[in-house]
Amino acid sequence: MSVFSHPEFDQHEQLNFFSDKATGLKAIIAVHNTNRGPALGGCRMWNYASDEDALRDVLRLSKGMTYKSALANLGLGGGKSVIIGDPRQHKSEALLEAMGRFLNMMGDRYIAAEDSGTSVADLTVMGRHTRNVAGITERTGIDGQPCNGDPSPATAYGTFVGLRAAVKHRLGRDDLRGLKVAVQGVGNVGYRLAQHLAAAGAELYVTDIHQDQVQRAVEQLGATAVSAEQILALDVDVLAPCALGAILNDISIPQIKARVIAGASNNQLAAPHHDAMLRQQGILYTPDYAINAGGIIDIYYERVGHDHQRVLAHIESIGDTLNEIFQRADASDRPTGEVANELAEERFLKPEAVVV
Ligand code: NAD
Repeated sequence: MSVFSHPEFDQHEQLNFFSDKATGLKAIIAVHNTNRGPALGGCRMWNYASDEDALRDVLRLSKGMTYKSALANLGLGGGKSVIIGDPRQHKSEALLEAMGRFLNMMGDRYIAAEDSGTSVADLTVMGRHTRNVAGITERTGIDGQPCNGDPSPATAYGTFVGLRAAVKHRLGRDDLRGLKVAVQGVGNVGYRLAQHLAAAGAELYVTDIHQDQVQRAVEQLGATAVSAEQILALDVDVLAPCALGAILNDISIPQIKARVIAGASNNQLAAPHHDAMLRQQGILYTPDYAINAGGIIDIYYERVGHDHQRVLAHIESIGDTLNEIFQRADASDRPTGEVANELAEERFLKPEAVVV
């Protein structure tokens, strides 16, 4: 298994492989870049088909975290960890404790958070052996309610702020009253985004594979239910993907009527060329990792000292970052995803990068 010549290797600072015979733990921790601070990223447990797949994932995802935290102006670098195994079969308290010991060996270079296959409870077990786990502390959430570490309310609020900035830029309006918004997926983030939009007077169209979630949005928010097949091609102003990745692709893009795409899903573009394809079609694409950074901002403040007003202000700065991306994209006639990557690189590659 080659590392330095791996297609996903991108000057990662550090890659650690751990194994523990007693518990069957096999894990990889990747630190991509720490110019702005310790690398923070999720600890994913997944039944990878091969060690090679796990390596590819950890290299790719750790790099993504560097870009995300830099674009959000956080004093964090990018990292990720993967545990190789089926969380339903192979996860045990002893295995999680062993992972906690490995995390501790990383010193303060990597901080783990929950991800696919791990929960706040799992991270709490790891935290018996290290202080370098995040997103597990009870605190006041973004909505003023007690919060157990779930970043969804912060992600939803950041997405709402970003959607407003995109609407202002593309449609020239501050007021969301009567704005037609299609929300794909009304789960933890999508439903809360829909709540913000409903409060601002938007007209909502929602879909989800779980009918009870759709029903809740219909009854509580006055949303109109549409089928999963209809949602992308709906005649609306804004499309807010909050369910799946890779939904912006060769088949869906020609059908999209919305002028703005602004939603929380990760990896919305199926391939890099879809970024330019959206611009050519006159659609303003709000880069996913810029608009969905509310959660990591919230987690960051858990570590440096939670202050409700500062967290809110920082999440609201997502709008400023997006405005910079939109303006630069227009000035240079380039797609917004490409400009977001450029701006993120400026923020973590320059040694003088200002850390907030
Ligand atoms: P979630 O699982 O709570 O919600 C996703 C919803 O989408 C579910 O209700 C699910 O039933 C629905 N769904 C799945 N497939 C669908 C389909 N084909 N059509 C319609 N609906 C479908 O997850 P979440 O935490 O709300 O996250 C949503 C997205 O945002 C994910 O892509 C996630 O990676 C991303 N994200 C979340 C956070 C966070 O703080 N939770 C942070 C950053 C990014």
